[in-house]
Amino acid sequence: MTVVGLDDTDSRDRGMCTTYVAARVAERLRREGCAVERCLLVRLNPAVEYKTRGNAALAIHTDADPDQAFDVARERLEALAETADKRTHPGLVVVDDAPAAVADEVSAFTRLAIRDHLEIRDAVDLLERRGYRSWHAGDGRGRIGALAAVGAWNALEEWTYEHISYRESDRWGTPREIDRESVFAAADRGYPEVWDTVDHDEDETVCVPHTPGPILHGIRGDDPDAVRGVADRIKGEPVASSQLFVTNQGTDVHLRDANLAAIQDGRAYRIDGRVVSEPETRRGGHVFVALESAAANRSDDQRRRLECAAFEPTKRFRDRVRALRVGDRLTVCGEVSRGTLKLEKFAVRDLVTTERVTPTCPDCERRMKSAGQNQGYRCRDCGTSADGKAERPLERDLEIGWYEVPPCARRHIAKPLVRGGFDAPTHPER
Ligand code: ATP
Repeated sequence: MTVVGLDDTDSRDRGMCTTYVAARVAERLRREGCAVERCLLVRLNPAVEYKTRGNAALAIHTDADPDQAFDVARERLEALAETADKRTHPGLVVVDDAPAAVADEVSAFTRLAIRDHLEIRDAVDLLERRGYRSWHAGDGRGRIGALAAVGAWNALEEWTYEHISYRESDRWGTPREIDRESVFAAADRGYPEVWDTVDHDEDETVCVPHTPGPILHGIRGDDPDAVRGVADRIKGEPVASSQLFVTNQGTDVHLRDANLAAIQDGRAYRIDGRVVSEPETRRGGHVFVALESAAANRSDDQRRRLECAAFEPTKRFRDRVRALRVGDRLTVCGEVSRGTLKLEKFAVRDLVTTERVTPTCPDCERRMKSAGQNQGYRCRDCGTSADGKAERPLERDLEIGWYEVPPCARRHIAKPLVRGGFDAPTHPER
C-alpha cells in the first residue's frame, strides 16, 4: 500500500482547493488501473496563520506503486497548485506503507499539527529521519500538512464523511446555480445523519461555498451512503465530478482539556469555569463574558480571568451567551486568540436560580430603604426592618446542557451537538 499526502495548493484570491487536487490525483491513479481505497480530508489546527481557509490537508490511500503515485501526484500538483500566489507553498509526501502501519512518530506529528504549531524544520527533520520521499515548491511549508495527512489514519479514531461535488471548470468564479429548495428538502431528509447542510434560521445553504474555487457543494455526515444520497437530491448546474472523503471534520479533535492557568494563544480548549461578569454586547454586535476557574481551592494563578466571545457571525448563539448570569458554572470550548476564547460551544453545568434584591415591606409591599451602612433595610412608613437583602427566584432562559453556534458559523473541525456522545443534555442547532 502507498499513502500520498498533499497540502497547500490553493490561493485566497485565485481559488483552487486541495480537495480538488487530491480528487484529480485519485482519478488519475484509477485511470492508470490502480485502486484507491480512500481519500482523507484532515483538518489541522484552525488557529494556524498560514491557512487559506479551513486548514485542510489531504491523503490518498492506494495500491499504486509508490514511484507511480509520486509521479502522478507531483504532475497534478504542478499543474493545479496556484503557485502564482506567493502564499501558496505546495508539499507532497509519499510513503511505502499501509496507512495503519505508518510510524507512531508520524501520527504524533499529526496530533501536534491538529492541536499545536509546527515549524517547517520539524517536518524536514521527520522526513529525513523516516527517509520518506517528498516534493515541494515555495518555502515548502506544505510538507507540514502533507506529513500530517500521512500520519492521520493511525493518529485519529473518529471519522465522518464529506461528499464533495465539483463544478465544470469554465464555471469557476461565476455564481453557482443551485435550486435552493432542493437543498433544504435533501437536508431535511438526510438529518440527523447528515448535518450542517443548511441553516434553517438563517435560511442559508451552508453546503454551498461562496469562494471562487471548484466546489459546487460539500455534504457532511456520519454515513457515506447518506451524504451521497443528499448530494444526489440537490438540483442545479451539472456536476463535473465528485469524491467521497473520510474526514476528521465534526469531531472536536482540536480541543484539549485544560485549566485556566494553562491556556495559550493559538490553541483550542475545553475549560471549566464560573461566569464572573454580566454578558456585554459591544460594537459590531459581539458579545463578551468573563470566566474564572470554578475550582474551590484555586490559587491566585488559577483564578486567571478568561474573556470569552460570541462574535456577530455566530448569530442566535449570542442570545444564549447574553442569557448567562454571574455565578453560572460552565464548560466552554473554542480557540484562544489574543487572550480571548472564541466560543464554539458551551455546556451549562449549574445555573444561578436566585438573585439578591432589596427587601419589600411585609405590610405595605413597597421597597424598603437602606438604614445606613451595614444596618440593613427599613420601611420608613411602617417601621418594619430587614437585616439584609432578600433572595428572589430568577427566571432563566437557559437549561443545563450543551449549546452551540449555528451551522452557518460552524468550524469544519467542531463537533455538531446532533452527533451525540456529549456528557450532558444537548440543544442542537439546525
Ligand atoms: P483550504 O481549506 O482552502 O484547502 P487551507 O486553509 O487548507 O486551504 P493551506 O493552503 O493548506 O490552507 O495552508 C496551510 C499551511 O499551514 C500549509 O502549508 C500547512 O502545511 C501549514 N500548517 C498546517 N498545520 C500547521 C501547524 N499546526 N503548524 C504550522 N503549519 C501548519
